[in-house]
Parts: sequence; C-alpha cells; structure tokens
Amino acid sequence: MSTKQLYNAALRRAIVQDVRVTKQLPRPISAFTCLRNRSIHTYRPAAFRAGQRRPFTASARRRLATADDTFNPADIERESDQVDVCIVGGGPAGLSAAIRLKQLANEAGNEDFRVLLLEKAGELGDHIVSGNVIEPSALRELLPDWNDESNPNRFEHITPATKDKMRFLTSKYSLPIPTPPQMNNHGNYIISLNQFTKWLGERAEEIGVEIYPGFAASEVLYNADGSVKGVATNDLGISRSGKPKDSFERGMEFHARVTLLAEGCHGSLTKQVIKKFDLRRDSQPQTYGLGIKEVWEIDPAKFQKGLVVHSMGYPLPTDTYGGGWMYHFGDNMVSIGLVVGLDYPNPWLAPYGEFQKMKQHPMYKEYLEGGKCISYGARTLNEGGFQSIPKCAFPGGALIGDTAGFLNVPKIKGTHTAMRSGMLAAEAAYTALDGAKDDDSSVFLYDYEDKLRESSIWTELKEVRNMRPSFHNPLGLWGGIMYSGLEAYVFKGKVPWTIKHSGTDHGATKLASECKKIEYPKPDGKISFDILTSVSRTGTNHEEDQPCHLVVEDWDKHAAMEWPKYKGVENRFCPAGVYEYVEDETKDIGVRFQINSQNCVHCKTCDIKVPDQDITWTTPQGGEGPKYVMT
Ligand SMILES: Cc1cc2nc3c(=O)[nH]c(=O)nc-3n(C[C@H](O)[C@H](O)[C@H](O)COP(=O)(O)OP(=O)(O)OC[C@H]3O[C@@H](n4cnc5c(N)ncnc54)[C@H](O)[C@@H]3O)c2cc1C
Ligand code: SF4
Repeated sequence: MSTKQLYNAALRRAIVQDVRVTKQLPRPISAFTCLRNRSIHTYRPAAFRAGQRRPFTASARRRLATADDTFNPADIERESDQVDVCIVGGGPAGLSAAIRLKQLANEAGNEDFRVLLLEKAGELGDHIVSGNVIEPSALRELLPDWNDESNPNRFEHITPATKDKMRFLTSKYSLPIPTPPQMNNHGNYIISLNQFTKWLGERAEEIGVEIYPGFAASEVLYNADGSVKGVATNDLGISRSGKPKDSFERGMEFHARVTLLAEGCHGSLTKQVIKKFDLRRDSQPQTYGLGIKEVWEIDPAKFQKGLVVHSMGYPLPTDTYGGGWMYHFGDNMVSIGLVVGLDYPNPWLAPYGEFQKMKQHPMYKEYLEGGKCISYGARTLNEGGFQSIPKCAFPGGALIGDTAGFLNVPKIKGTHTAMRSGMLAAEAAYTALDGAKDDDSSVFLYDYEDKLRESSIWTELKEVRNMRPSFHNPLGLWGGIMYSGLEAYVFKGKVPWTIKHSGTDHGATKLASECKKIEYPKPDGKISFDILTSVSRTGTNHEEDQPCHLVVEDWDKHAAMEWPKYKGVENRFCPAGVYEYVEDETKDIGVRFQINSQNCVHCKTCDIKVPDQDITWTTPQGGEGPKYVMT
C-alpha cells in the first residue's frame, strides 16, 4: 500500500470510529480534529511525506472518568517537544516564514532543522477571511514558479484584476470618483485567501515543515531568564464548569529557540507578549476595522471577470470610516464585503446591519439579484499602519504579519506584507540560530527589526501613514477624503509630519443616550439575511460543554456596567450573534447578559471594541471555530 493509501485508510478508520461528535455539530467533525484525538502522528500525511516523526509519547490522552472534585489538570505534567522554530498561526505570514526557514536549512544541507507550525483551525485556511486582491511581489520571491505553466503544483485559482472602479455612494446613486494610485490593481490577482493558504500549506509540507492543524496555542511559556521558551496548547475535554471530562487530554508544550507569532490581526498570545515586553512603548495604539464578507455565485450574464469595485459613503454615516468592495473572480463568483472602522462612535451602529444595507444599494444589488450566497465570514483587520507598529522582536521570538500590524489600509492589502515579514523573520532567525549552535542563551532577532526598517514594508506603510488618521478631523469623512487625495497625488508621504490616531477604538464609543438610534430594515432573505442564517454559512462549531472561550469574569457585573451606558453594544458589534441581553425581571437592570460562544467566528471584534475592555478572547479547543469556504 502506498503512503497515501495508508493515510486514507487511517483517515477513514478515524472518522468512522470517532466518538466525540456532539449532538450540536452541524457538520462532520474535521478529519484533522478526529486525528488529533487519536495518536495523531500515526496518520499525518506531512509526517510521512517529509519522513518526519513526531516525538510525543503515546500517552497524550488520559481518561479521567473517575477524577474527583479536587483534581487539578495543572498537576499533570504536559508532554513537550523541542524544535528549532515554532510558528503560531498558519496564515500567509506563518507559512511564508516556515517555507523560507526550511528553504534556507535545506539549501545548507541541514535537513534536521525542525520548523513546526501550529494552526487552531481544523484545516489550514478554515479560519481565513480576506478580500482578496493579492499583490504577488513577496510570493514571487518566495516561490518563483508559483504560477508557471511547467509547475504541476502551481496555484491555479487566480483571476487577473482587469478593471478598477471606485464609486462614492449616496442612498440611491453611485458616483464615479478617481481611483487613487495605491488602489490600482494592474498586475494583481483576485483569489480566495482561504484556498491560497491551503495551497501554501501543501508547499510547506513538501519541504518538510511540520504542520499541526487543530492545535490552538493558548499560553506563552517563558525561560528562567524571561525569554520566550515556546507555547502550550490548551487542555481538551474540560467541562463548562471547569471539571475534566472522560475525554480529558492535557495540553502540550512546544519549546523552541525562536517562536514566531503569526496569529493574524489582534492575536491572543501576541496581546500577552506585547504587554509582557512593553512592545508598544514607542508606538501608538493599534486601531482596527471589521471586515464582513460574503461569496456569491452570480448570474453569468452579469459576471465581469477581473472587475474590482471599491465604494465609499453609503451606508456608513459620515462619522464612521469604511468602505465596500466587490471582486469578480473564478467562474461567476463574486466576493462582496464591507469594512467598518472600529473607532465608530455610535453604539447603536451594527456593522452586520450596515453590510446588509449595502447589498441593497442599486449598484451592488444589480449584480446579486438572481445569484446565490454560498459563504459568509467576518474578521478584523489592522488600520493603525506605520504609527502603530510595535517593537516586533522580543527575547526568544518575533511578531510577523497582521499580528504585528503590517496591513496597508488605503490599499486594503496585507497579504504581501505579511508574507514578506515572515520571510524576513525567517532569514533573521536562521542566521541567528546558525550562528549560535553551541550557545544555549536566548536568541534576540535584532536583524529582523533592522531588515524590516530597510524593507518595502516600511517604505509603503510610511508613505500612506497619514491617510487613515486624517479622517479624525472636524470635517469627518469629507476632510479625510480631501486630505487623502492630497497625500495620494501631491504629498506622497513626503511631508515632515505624522498625524496621530485619536485613541483606541473602544475609547471612541459614545454613550447610547448621546447618539441617534439606528433601525435596520428586516432582511428580505434574498439579498439580505438574518445573522443566524449567515452564521450557518460559516460551518462554525464549538463543543458546548467547555469553558467559555470569551472570558468575562462576572457576567452580571458586566451587564450592570455596560447595559445602562451602551444598551447592548456587544450584540450589535458582534457579526455572529454571540452576545445577547435577554429580558429578565429578576435582574435590577431588567436584562441578563448571555454569551452564545458556539457561534463565535473568531473575528476578535469583542476583545477590541467592548468599551470597558472586560471581554477577553481566548482560544477554544483546537480544531473548533469556523470552517470557511472560499472566503
Ligand atoms: C475583510 C478583509 C479583506 C482583506 N482584503 C485584502 C486584500 O484584498 N488583499 C490583501 O492583500 N489583503 C487583504 N486583507 C488582509 C489579509 O487578509 C491579511 O493581511 C493576511 O491574511 C495576514 O496574514 P497573517 O498570516 O498575518 O494572518 P491571518 O491570515 O489572519 O492568519 C493567521 C492564522 O493564525 C491562526 N491562529 C491565530 N491565533 C492562533 C493561535 N493562538 N494558535 C494557533 N493558530 C492561531 C488563525 O487561525 C489563522 O489561520 C484583508 C483582510 C480582511 C479581514
Ligand atoms: S464573539 Fe467576539 S470574536 Fe466571536 S464572532 Fe463575536 S465579536 Fe467576533
């Protein structure tokens, strides 16, 4: 039997035998999640292909049906694995870093150099949401034959961007406005980043990167000298009340001389590391936008392959930054979405409701009518740009990609900068480790910080640094558009000043009593949809009986603090209907706060926007969350 046949047979066995499928599951549990609950290294295809071995003992799973109330999971020692570089997050940044590291090691004949990548999604790409129009500069450098006809493994799912349109929308009309130079997509490609990530993962596995999907890194580990020692994954099989269940499995530790955090926008471990090492000491706070997206299959008669449309204005109010997009790609597919700056002041505003309104605008509706929505997703993105880049290296590791904040806001592009930062960190890490083979002291990637400053990432982010913060001016949207026009066509970033952001996104939220209430129209079920229908299109699943991964210390205290001031802002900012205030006469304020964590699509908005900062997004059990398609 070939390796592939062996793997497939094992996979089928694992799926047939799996007993952990709970009755809430709306879809078959991910193959890798099944495998994870068994002795995974037996079945991993990468491990076979790359001839690697996962050196864990076979006792990872411990059944504790008889455990008494005094049992403390922390008393069980975690198994650990020592690798050269551990990467947290299998998006474009993490995978590019992994590929570059193995390229360098393999070129030097150092095939034993171990690069391990942990991904919380059940399969690579499952948690990725993006536009996406990709600028292929970094990709070309990393994998020069990525799209060569002669390459049997080339990435085929690309649509060259052929036409850019920029529109200003009023409630009824769409007015053409000039496409700023940075929005010109000539030479770029429309892709599904979720598909691209899967492909990139295969390229990484081919050259020996050890990829473990379904592993959520939940804790940063430190050496005695304070440097980062690696990460640990969370315990599985803990009940909602915190007690170990029959399926209990202790988390694992991954130790490395270098740990690269590639968690994407607002990473949960990154948040801890930034605080621990005070990485924001010389930068401004990060600011964010929430992107909400759908993928549609539209009437072929309306399809214009390669068309890239961006819009400003309607439906967003003038005190709210953001804009819409529509990309025509593949065969009759359309990616449509809206980004809403999370510094919006009005707590009555619901980004989800705004997106549903946007689709009803004649310019968008015309394309969607007669089509079918096949996918939905939501994810935050960084908007702080140059001013908000923290220190990216820390003792024992570095931040790469969106978790560091390299997205170019006016371009709405971060894939190429994420990939490039991963490659730069990889080069710095390989050189540092190669030069310190016989030295056990902690590694600091000074080189990475230097290379970032010399790179195109720095140049392009510096050039556009004043555009986003220019929207904080007494003229709001109009002032921002005028100033951005001057920057794009005249100043080109060469002015001596740098405009500051006005503060944090959560701090920008006004009291409900100070703002106009917004009523959203009922969805028509054809173009606009209710939130639960949309969530059902994400394939999201979380086992219900586990500690709530959206950590609010005291739900009643939270409600008593937030409800009187913001009247349920959490319910409106969450694009997955996770938070609710339910009428309850037994409560002094007349409502009870409720968290439906099973619906969470891991967008991180709550952690960013909740006004009093008392919701912390943590990783649920590995392999859970959305299972996005084509996002
Ligand atoms: C709505 C929207 C539209 C966009 N449009 C474009 C566009 O058109 N063009 C463009 O170039 N860019 C676009 N971007 C930006 C682009 O998607 C990002 O810049 C890019 O995805 C960043 O790559 P990354 O690897 O840093 O992070 P991500 O792509 O977010 O990947 C991070 C990965 O890490 C995993 N992870 C996170 N935490 C953990 C953990 N603790 N343990 C294990 N795994 C973890 C996640 O599940 C995820 O798979 C858009 C972004 C959004 C949200
Ligand atoms: S609970 Fe938070 S992270 Fe989850 S979908 Fe809602 S806002 Fe996003």
